[in-house]
Amino acid sequence: MCKHNICAQLWTLLNSSEIPEINSNKTKKGVACVIYDTNTEKIILGRENYGRYQGKLSLCAGGLESQDDNCFIGALKRELFEEFKLNFDWKNFNKCFKSHGVFNIVIHHGTPVFRGKYPIDINELNKINKQYVNSNNPALREMSELVLVDPNNLPNDVSSFVKAVLKY
Ligand SMILES: [Zn+2]
Repeated sequence: MCKHNICAQLWTLLNSSEIPEINSNKTKKGVACVIYDTNTEKIILGRENYGRYQGKLSLCAGGLESQDDNCFIGALKRELFEEFKLNFDWKNFNKCFKSHGVFNIVIHHGTPVFRGKYPIDINELNKINKQYVNSNNPALREMSELVLVDPNNLPNDVSSFVKAVLKY
């Protein structure tokens, strides 16, 4: 287990939930995020190559894996590179997700969704993403393209997950 206060708080919250769907040892815990581009106020989404949202534009999200050691923010940092090619060090991670020293998080069906702001260079991220198109690691080629979309005028091909999370 990591030493982050926020991870300890999230585990306490999720384990104390009275909703069985959330408070179950059998439920694999996940983490997700919504990032607004500082310059355009658009959000970054990726077009999924696989899975339940195949072909749809969706958020950076994933399950906690054994190497994450029950650390939500470590898992999110890992997913941000795998899916969006955002290679955050801890300084930039905090710059993106902390506002006035605190994380902005909503819990959607038992999944913590971090909300943040960051200057996104979408062309650069797509260039990096293309370098992994033949990667041996399937986690690095989950997205066929990365896009910025207006959260107030969503395209038709966004996942139901995006629509649900933006309602908070
Ligand atoms: Zn942690």
